Parts: sequence; C-alpha cells; structure tokens
Amino acid sequence: MLERELAARDVKIQWRHEVAELTPNAGSVTVFLNKLEKESRGYIVAHNEWVVAKTTETQVPYVVGADGYNSRVRRRLGIQFPEVGAAQYFAVFEFQTKADLGHEMRLVFDEGGMSVLWPLPNGYCRWSFELPDYHDIDAEMIKDRLFTAGLGYFPTERPKEREASSDPGHPAILGETSLRNLLADRAPWFLSTVDHITWRTVVRFERRLTSSFGSGHCWLAGDAAHTTGPAGIQSMNIGMFEAEELAAALASGAPGELDAYNARWTQAWRQLHGLESPLRPGPTADPWIAQHAAALTSCLPAHGAELAALAGQLGLRF
Ligand SMILES: Cc1cc2nc3c(=O)[nH]c(=O)nc-3n(C[C@H](O)[C@H](O)[C@H](O)COP(=O)(O)OP(=O)(O)OC[C@H]3O[C@@H](n4cnc5c(N)ncnc54)[C@H](O)[C@@H]3O)c2cc1C
Repeated sequence: MLERELAARDVKIQWRHEVAELTPNAGSVTVFLNKLEKESRGYIVAHNEWVVAKTTETQVPYVVGADGYNSRVRRRLGIQFPEVGAAQYFAVFEFQTKADLGHEMRLVFDEGGMSVLWPLPNGYCRWSFELPDYHDIDAEMIKDRLFTAGLGYFPTERPKEREASSDPGHPAILGETSLRNLLADRAPWFLSTVDHITWRTVVRFERRLTSSFGSGHCWLAGDAAHTTGPAGIQSMNIGMFEAEELAAALASGAPGELDAYNARWTQAWRQLHGLESPLRPGPTADPWIAQHAAALTSCLPAHGAELAALAGQLGLRF
C-alpha cells in the first residue's frame, strides 16, 4: 500500500540498499549507501549471503531515520535511547476460533500481569499474555554487557525473529497446552474453540524514549525514537502520525517547525510512558479502573487530546 502511494507521487523505493554511514554538514547530509546483492557462497554446502555490491556517496538535504529499534541514524547522531520503564515479555498466539469477538479488544489484568485479546479478520484472533517470570537470559546478558560497555542500545534481533525461526522446536511456553492453560488461568470466560494456531512467539517489549527526535538535518520517527508495550497499539500507529507531521514540517520549510516536532512528540511520549502527569482516577472511576490507572495509559489506542478523552470515558484524568 505504501509503495503504491509513493509511486503515485513519483517516489521510487530503492530496495536492498542500506545507509552505511552519514555525516551531517552545515546545510545537508553526506550519506554512504550500500547496494546489497545475494551471492552464492560455499563449496560443499552452497548458501546465499547478502554482500555489498556497490557503495555510493550522495548529498541529501535531510535524513529521516525511520530505521527501527536499532536505528543506525540515531546511533550515528549519538542520541541516547534510555529505558524509561520496565520491559515486559509476552507470549503471543494467533489462532482460528469460532468465538464472535465483534470489533472490540479485551484487556485482562490479574496476578499474572496483563493479557490482551484482539479480534482479527476471517475468524482469527491474537492473544498476548504477559509472562512476568519469563527471562531470555541470552538477550539480557548481551544487553547488560553492552550497557556496561557504555553503549545505550540493544543491537540484537528481537526475540520475535529468533523464536519464530527456531520453529517447529518451539519452547513449552508456546505449546498448545500452554495456550490452553493460559486461557483457563487468565480468561476462563473465553469458552470458544482454539482451532488452528497460525503464529506463536515470545516477544520482549521494552519501554524506551529517545533523548531527542533529531536536530538540524537529521530526524527520527517511529521505533527509532520510541518503544512501548503492545496493548495500546501505540508504537506503529503513533509512528505513522509522526512520519506525517515530520514530512509536513520538512516540506513547509518554516523555521521552528522541526523543533516544534521534537518538542511535541517528546511531550506526547513522556505522557504515554507515564513520565509526567500520570493518569489518576477521578471521582467517578470504577475501583478496578482506579487500581489499574497507571498501567492503563499504555493500553489506550490514542495520544494527546484523544488519549485524554478516552481516559475521561473511564473516569481517569491527567
Ligand atoms: C510481535 C509484535 C507485535 C506488534 N504488534 C503491534 C500492533 O498490533 N500495533 C502496533 O501499533 N505496533 C505493533 N508492534 C510494533 C510495530 O511492529 C512497530 O512499532 C513498527 O513496525 C515500527 O515501524 P518502524 O517503521 O518505525 O520500524 P521498523 O518496522 O523496524 O522498520 C524499520 C525499517 O528500516 C530498515 N532499516 C534499518 N536500518 C537501515 C539502514 N541502515 N538503511 C536502510 N534501511 C534500514 C529496516 O530494514 C526496516 O525495514 C508489534 C511488534 C511486535 C514485535
């Protein structure tokens, strides 16, 4: 869909190219682009590897680092990406079910943590169960080593990719018995069928916020600038808003628009992460809502004024 929209605006995507290096100058940015090609390697056992076929140097007026969690642009600019809250592991299952879920997501809070049910098209659903006692020792060791070495980022694959690629030998926590136990434990009201499991994974969701959305001629949007938990579907959706605003600010060329972009989204994400004026129960809040007020901020699919309006429906206010 995005590619079609870009084509309609005469923008061609250069697939299989990566930004290898960038240097901000006074009025532009020097970028080194690597063109990647698949090369056959190995004599006894043949395999393909991506290799750099060509490197080109180019000058661009602006760089937008929408390059995800491990953002090279962010690292190259030396922008910090600190953790601003506790990380959470979730076991995620997508399966076919006869349950009629309508169009509502459901949220469960109990001693096991948070669980979320999303309806999906064509009779499918996704359940995500928080795993408070689960640890990916390998991932955490690498992370701790890097932090000790003074690197404020976590440049490993997401557990999602590694877990998915190790299928079919998936761990017990992702077995069908585990899914049925989690459902019985967390959602005994979910009495419908678990027909065909199409996807399962353990994901570590970190809570991070960039120390700056950019400056000068280099800017960040999306996961390059923030990560959060899954319940409020905030990561991608708000990343889209940022991209739209950043594009408009770059196109307008009006002085101060880009600094305003940084200020607006820093403030929005500080609120989403509960770092300032956290949600508090008003006089009409249900006791259950009041008890979970702080955790609910990252569960509401909105930001800014819409977030305040949604929270208001629950009797919560900032
Ligand atoms: C299991 C799971 C479930 C999720 N569910 C939801 C959900 O329901 N709703 C939601 O809103 N979010 C969800 N998220 C989060 C969502 O996937 C991310 O927020 C979103 O993909 C971030 O988009 P992005 O474009 O910022 O970064 P990415 O999707 O990470 O894209 C970055 C892109 O940049 C490219 N890139 C990286 N480095 C370079 C380089 N040097 N040069 C050129 N290109 C580069 C990468 O190849 C990649 O294509 C989920 C995440 C996970 C793991």
